[in-house]
Amino acid sequence: MKIMLHSCCGPCTTYSLEHLRQQGHEVKGIFFNPNIHPYTEFRRRLEAFAGFCAQAGHEAQIVDEYGLRQFLAAVAGDIDARCAVCYEMRLRRAAQHAVQEGCDAFTTTLTISPYQNHDLIRAVGGKVADDCGIEFKYFDFRQGYRDSIEMSRRMNLYRQPYCGCIFSEEERYLRARPRRKV
Ligand code: SF4
Repeated sequence: MKIMLHSCCGPCTTYSLEHLRQQGHEVKGIFFNPNIHPYTEFRRRLEAFAGFCAQAGHEAQIVDEYGLRQFLAAVAGDIDARCAVCYEMRLRRAAQHAVQEGCDAFTTTLTISPYQNHDLIRAVGGKVADDCGIEFKYFDFRQGYRDSIEMSRRMNLYRQPYCGCIFSEEERYLRARPRRKV
């Protein structure tokens, strides 16, 4: 299949891309993450991803737009339910790019993380797929989570200490917010 891989960051893309390539897929990519704050962190993750693409020969669109305002406007109505909105913003852009690039399906590196809500990602991916007329392929990359850490070390990639948004940066220290499902 020709697959559009949404990347949340370079480290999560290491194993995910290798896994898809090993399965024989042709993979194109997109980095679109208005959820990464503050600006210095956004730049650091974007540059780490660009460095990874150069090393791995990965062809990806890198959307160099700091999305703090866009993100906050989208989640302000219900901060505790923000992850569904966050997933949808990113997956919708990936799906649209996949259609433009003539891909058969789209997926995301978010599913390498044991800390993300996989059921929610799957549900949101399916909804976006219906809206955009392209298949969402759910891959459970979690078996490669440890490998991705090792691969990132070998490639000297920056690894972030929190999910991305300013709220998750706070939770990094507080660790108390209950998560809701759609
Ligand atoms: S915690 Fe992570 S997935 Fe949830 S809204 Fe923040 S950046 Fe997005």
